[in-house]
Amino acid sequence: MPLPRFSLVHGVTPLHELPRLRAALGGPSRCPPILIKRDDLAGPAMGGNKARKLEYCVADALAADATHLVTVGATQSNHARMTAAAARLAGMRCVLVLTAAGAQAPQGNLFLDQLLDAELHFVAPGPVALGPNPHEDACVAAVMRRLEQQGGRPYFVALGASTPLGVVGYVEAMRELTRQCADLGGSAPPARLYFAAGSRGTQAGIVLGSILHCAPWTAHGIAVSPGDPDKTERAVELAAGAAELLGTHVRLTRDQIITHQEFYGAGYAVPTEEGDAAVRLVARTEAIFLDPVYTGKAMAGLIAHVQRGDIDQERPIIFLHTGGLPGLFAQADRLGDPADARPGCD
Ligand SMILES: *Cc1c(COP(=O)(O)O)cnc(C)c1O
Repeated sequence: MPLPRFSLVHGVTPLHELPRLRAALGGPSRCPPILIKRDDLAGPAMGGNKARKLEYCVADALAADATHLVTVGATQSNHARMTAAAARLAGMRCVLVLTAAGAQAPQGNLFLDQLLDAELHFVAPGPVALGPNPHEDACVAAVMRRLEQQGGRPYFVALGASTPLGVVGYVEAMRELTRQCADLGGSAPPARLYFAAGSRGTQAGIVLGSILHCAPWTAHGIAVSPGDPDKTERAVELAAGAAELLGTHVRLTRDQIITHQEFYGAGYAVPTEEGDAAVRLVARTEAIFLDPVYTGKAMAGLIAHVQRGDIDQERPIIFLHTGGLPGLFAQADRLGDPADARPGCD
């Protein structure tokens, strides 16, 4: 029996070529064909990979008769914004516990959280960056207690919806993508799939789904934050949980999970020159917007691999666009140029 799913994505996201980016990277003699899988267009409220993951988490919450979705993230969390959107569509309220080091401008995702009227709580960062945060744990526990005392049924969604149910969303995405690639016909099967690897639920689903659906590619995660080897271990466990839900005996091993560590720079959400350059290049060649936290760094990894020249030139490579557009606006002050507002054309 298929797992219950609350539809957020509505259909298949596009897969198409990026010929102008390929030309900018040296053309056919230096760069294989590049395809992009547009999961930035997946789901409502500016889209992204969290829509696919939340389809299964929200269905589970509805089955449990939940009244509220409660989740955690950074102030510019795409996951928090998509959870707030999904709660609206599923007829639930949303409470977000966001980690913030200080005052935050109402920009990007945080602004959209406010428009969606999510209940917001801010907590200070924990002692270790991206590590366990006692302030966050205490706040979530207090929120859950309060909602229960008020007669509600809060449902907690883990960071990034990186749970076995969330992972199922990307196993299913690999079914969709392998079919799309088969339908392309003619051209050689794609050799690699590149994507941004954060909390690793997406990666767990991609690697497991690629095996289950006999995908021709090798999955190359580009880490956007430190944390290995623990995070690879976590991806193995998440994939095992998803496999169990799906009723398959396939289990991943650590060596099946490829994650490149050279592209996150000084840490999560800390910009890199190469990531910013990738954001500009893809906007100027293909009019597609990446973000500086996830997809810009992932594209910087793909570009570095193309430039290193060790990729098969005959077979296409695929870039999975995981979304993150609101995060781009949150960094407009840094990435943009102030306009000179004097009237006139010269
Ligand atoms: C959350 C996110 C990712 C990473 O997904 P994980 O499953 O956490 O690894 C990548 N790109 C964007 C835009 C995201 O919001």
